[in-house]
Amino acid sequence: MKALTISAHGTLDQITLRDDLPEPVVEAPGDVRVRLRAAALNHLDLFVVEGIPGVSITPGWILGGDGMGTVDSVGAAVTGVAVGDRVVINPGISCRECEFCRAGEQPLCVKFRLLGEHRPGTFAEFVVVPAANVRRIPDGVPDDVAAAFTLATLTAWRMLVTRAQLRAGEQVLIQGIGGGVAIAALQIAKSLGATVWVTSRSDAKLARAAALGADVMINSATEDVARAVRARTGKRGVDVVVDSVGGPVWAQSLGALGRRGRLVTCGASAGPVVETDVRRLFWNQWSILGSTMGTDAEFDAIVGELHAGRLLPPVDAVFPLAEGRAAFARLAAAEQFGKVVLAIA
Ligand SMILES: [Zn+2]
Repeated sequence: MKALTISAHGTLDQITLRDDLPEPVVEAPGDVRVRLRAAALNHLDLFVVEGIPGVSITPGWILGGDGMGTVDSVGAAVTGVAVGDRVVINPGISCRECEFCRAGEQPLCVKFRLLGEHRPGTFAEFVVVPAANVRRIPDGVPDDVAAAFTLATLTAWRMLVTRAQLRAGEQVLIQGIGGGVAIAALQIAKSLGATVWVTSRSDAKLARAAALGADVMINSATEDVARAVRARTGKRGVDVVVDSVGGPVWAQSLGALGRRGRLVTCGASAGPVVETDVRRLFWNQWSILGSTMGTDAEFDAIVGELHAGRLLPPVDAVFPLAEGRAAFARLAAAEQFGKVVLAIA
């Protein structure tokens, strides 16, 4: 089968389209095989190409976590999904046996594995995954939108709904609007009835965010974000900050956070080591919340939103699988607004 692969870590030049890979087959009774129609890129895929400490790949490694397609083979024990079903895939795979899995907290699984990082990924004609990792989707949702949906929406849902517990009437600041998680966070925050502030260094991205319902736009290239938030809230600050940027942006996020504020993070694209003044942390009684991926229940919740026609992600660009390297370059340049998608079928 065809797949987008790497055989060593490095630059995007490592990304190669292969057409000689064996088709995976269903072996475990709880697994299904999906004939992929579209897949979406995430920053995680860039990190896999560059190399993640402690994660090793085998040559001809298939990239990709997000994907959608049609179930074309099921194991003997599979009941909830059938051959022919059109599905989205949750790339986070849990053991279903450890204490966290038994408590329904799958992203905390001690054997948590990700498609494209620890297991062959979705930038391929076929992928085999546990049936628990797929959900049926409505026929009316286009392939590219469905492919773009799952990981960003699931991540943002857990961050805002479960971890930060954002409520109607609260103020939330989303740093670096343009990527999939930030845009999904904007859509979820608006649906919860929050007032949404967004930041970007690009006026074009801020205008796109405004069209999606963002209430206050701050250009972080020309304005000090913390100062701007404090000035426009009478020094109060916001209730929640979504920061998946890290690095020097972290200090700006804390500077914008009001008393009893919650900062929730799922990434550190600008750097993993940040500075926090502990005196301000305890004095303001802040909560700093980590979050990653989502549980089965959260997967059900976001797919429910999809069935209701809500939280449809904007798609920035669609590339054929053969032009996968160009798709990665688009993501690496950080010029996108919305998801970068690969068309496979
Ligand atoms: Zn587990």
